[in-house]
Amino acid sequence: MIISMRLHATADEIDQVCERIKEFGYKVHSIVGEERVVIGVVGVGDVTACLESIQAMPGVESAVRISAPYKFVSKEFKPNHTRIRLNGIEIGGDDFCVMAGPCSVENEKQIMETAEGVAAAGAKILRGGAYKPRTSPYDFQGLGVEGLKLLAKAREATGLAVVTEVMSDGEVGLVAEYADIMQVGARNMQNFALLKALGGCGRPVLLKRGMSSTIKELLMSAEYITAHGNANVILCERGIRTFETATRNTCDLAAVPLLNELTHLPVIVDPSHATGKRSLVPPLSRAAAAIGADGLIVEVHPRPERAMSDGAQSLTLEGFREMMEQLRPCLDLWRQFRAPMNVVAVRQSIK
Ligand code: PEP
Ligand code: MN
Repeated sequence: MIISMRLHATADEIDQVCERIKEFGYKVHSIVGEERVVIGVVGVGDVTACLESIQAMPGVESAVRISAPYKFVSKEFKPNHTRIRLNGIEIGGDDFCVMAGPCSVENEKQIMETAEGVAAAGAKILRGGAYKPRTSPYDFQGLGVEGLKLLAKAREATGLAVVTEVMSDGEVGLVAEYADIMQVGARNMQNFALLKALGGCGRPVLLKRGMSSTIKELLMSAEYITAHGNANVILCERGIRTFETATRNTCDLAAVPLLNELTHLPVIVDPSHATGKRSLVPPLSRAAAAIGADGLIVEVHPRPERAMSDGAQSLTLEGFREMMEQLRPCLDLWRQFRAPMNVVAVRQSIK
C-alpha cells in the first residue's frame, strides 16, 4: 500500500496517518518525496479496512494497494512516465537522450577531446569512469579523484552534464560533489549498502542491470534507492550473460518495452557493454530508439586502439558522429510511438 499525502499536509496529519497504519498491524517502511510526503506501508493486515480508514483521514490525497513487490517504482503507483530534469536536459521526456564518452577517464587531453567531439555530434551527457570495476586487480583501476576533477573540467568547457560510476557507499559523498548523475555498475546492482546511500545523495542515479540479474531484481534494486528517498532513478539494459560467446553479453532488448509496462522510470540502453563490439553499437542504438528506450549510453574514445579499457567496443569520434546521423530516422519512429505512450499514461492518471 502507498499513501500519498496532500501537498501541504501538516506534520500532525502525517503522524496520525502513521499511527493509524500501525494500529492495523502494518509497518511504516519509508517516507519519500521532495514536495510531498509519500508513505510506504508493508506487512500483513486487513488491507481493505486499512485503505478505507486511511482514505478518509485529513491530509490524505490517495491510498492505493500495490500488488507488485516493488512499490514506488511500479506503474501501479505512478502511471505517468518519470521525467528527470537536470541542467536543462530531460531524461524520460520528449527527447531521446544520448550519453557518450570513454570507458575510463585517462588524461585531460583524452577527456576534453572526447567531450568536445560528442557534444558537437549531439550528446547531452558525458560519460567516463574515474573509479573502474575491473575483473583483474592488475588492470587500470581509474584515476580516482583526479578523474572526477577532469570530468568537472570537461563539463565546464562543454556544458555537458556528467555521469560517472560510484563503487562504494563510502564514496557517494565525494562522487556526488562532481557528478550530475551517479552510475551504479552492473557488478554493484545488488550492493545494497551502496543503493541505500544513493537514496540520500541528492543526484539522479543511473542503475545498470546486473549481468545475471532478472528484470524483477533490477526493479527491486531501483526500489531500494527510491525507498531510501531518491525517486530519480534511470534504468539501463547493458546486456546479460547467456550461453552465447560471439558477443560480450546478450542485449536483452525485450527488457525495454517490458520495463515500460512495469515501471514509470526512464530506461536507456548501453549497446557498448551489451555487445563488446564496435560494429554492433550503431545498429543496436537504432534498435533501442525504435523500441522506445529513453536514450543511450555509448563508449567513445578518440583513439580506441590505445584505450586503457574497453577499446574494442568504443566508437571513434567520427564513428559516433556517423551513428548519430544514422539514428535520425529512428528518432522519427521514436516520436511516433512516444506520443501515444504519454497519452495512455495521462489517461490512466485521470481515471
Ligand atoms: C562501464 O560503464 O564502463 C561499465 C563498467 O559498465 P557495466 O557496469 O555495465 O559493466
Ligand atoms: Mn566500459
